[in-house]
Amino acid sequence: MTLLHEALNIKDDIITWRRALHKIPETGLHLPKTAAYIAAQLEAMGIPYKTFDSHSGILAWIGDPGSPIHPVKGKTIALRADMDALNINEETGAPFKSENDKMHACGHDAHVATLLGAAKLLKSREASLNGCIKLIFQPAEEGPGGAVPMIQDGVLENPKVDAMFAMHVFNVEDTTIPGAIGVRQGAMFASDDQIYLKIKGKGGHGSAPHETVDPVTIAAHIIVALQSIISREVNPASPAVITIASLSAGRGTNNIIPDCAEMLGTIRTLSFDTRAFVLKRIEEIIDALIKGFRADYELSFYDSYPPVINDEAVTTRFLKSARKILPEDEIVIMKDSLMGGEDAAFFFEQVPGTYFLLNTSMLQDGQLYPIHNARFMLDDAVLYKGAAVFVQAALDALESPDPLET
Ligand SMILES: [Zn+2]
Ligand SMILES: [Zn+2]
Repeated sequence: MTLLHEALNIKDDIITWRRALHKIPETGLHLPKTAAYIAAQLEAMGIPYKTFDSHSGILAWIGDPGSPIHPVKGKTIALRADMDALNINEETGAPFKSENDKMHACGHDAHVATLLGAAKLLKSREASLNGCIKLIFQPAEEGPGGAVPMIQDGVLENPKVDAMFAMHVFNVEDTTIPGAIGVRQGAMFASDDQIYLKIKGKGGHGSAPHETVDPVTIAAHIIVALQSIISREVNPASPAVITIASLSAGRGTNNIIPDCAEMLGTIRTLSFDTRAFVLKRIEEIIDALIKGFRADYELSFYDSYPPVINDEAVTTRFLKSARKILPEDEIVIMKDSLMGGEDAAFFFEQVPGTYFLLNTSMLQDGQLYPIHNARFMLDDAVLYKGAAVFVQAALDALESPDPLET
């Protein structure tokens, strides 16, 4: 029986897990019901796992755990699924609809179910595994970020992870085939930095601007100047976005110059170099403009995620693995990166890996709703394909003398 057929045989398990998780969405770092559900499935499969005090993440492993008494032989490959939901009231009317005021509107319920499916397939091969597979169930991808605390808790060490794979359900560009995958070399997801700026001026009467330091005029200069970083300073071949999404100042009157103005925005880039350059220039331009206009300021960047960069060698071999599972027309080489952020980036900074998308497009009321929409729905009948791809990629990475060799 082929691996894809084995995965097809547990399709109903994967659907059951996904729908059970869909009913009990939780957000952030602490997901007690979700973690308990995952732990129960791991226990039923006889898979050992570890939990953590400061968050609901779970590290499970198949193959040698790498204890000092029983040191690991071979390589260690990690498979990662995020497990958190969003503060959205579900409007799908599905029979397995959320039972609370949160929603798995980004499909992380499907990611957990797919990884549990991969775990089941790998567990049945444990005796012949040439190394260790770590399963990382990560909370708080949607914020405040669960990858960093898990890295700090040592999930990538003992045994050290040699390569990793992660997956997101998506409406993959250029295909309508259910269960097709999308992947690309280089940047999969953009870097994602939030910006907060408070311009501190001096308020006064609207008829006497010379007695004030007007933060509204300064804000206008800054918004325009920041766009010049994109249009005049960043290489046009390197995509970057600066969006100032919120500006607040004044008290709704026409003749009071306010003391301060505040703005919020987001910055996206597709490389470490472009990101560092854009952030540096934002700081320099804001400092120069605000000082030039005699005001003061507070500036901070927060909720910062680096870009997710697919490793060239690991991804080349991942594609060979995927072709053992899926026909050529179900493997889409994506032209474009996604400008969204993903905190798997912190894992991918430490370990070479491949992040791929699984096409789970599904109409709801005749329409395709995107992730983070209250009517988002995904086709869980194809998740078994994602599980099979995960398993083949992990097995091939273990069998390679060096996971980085292609
Ligand atoms: Zn999301
Ligand atoms: Zn997501």
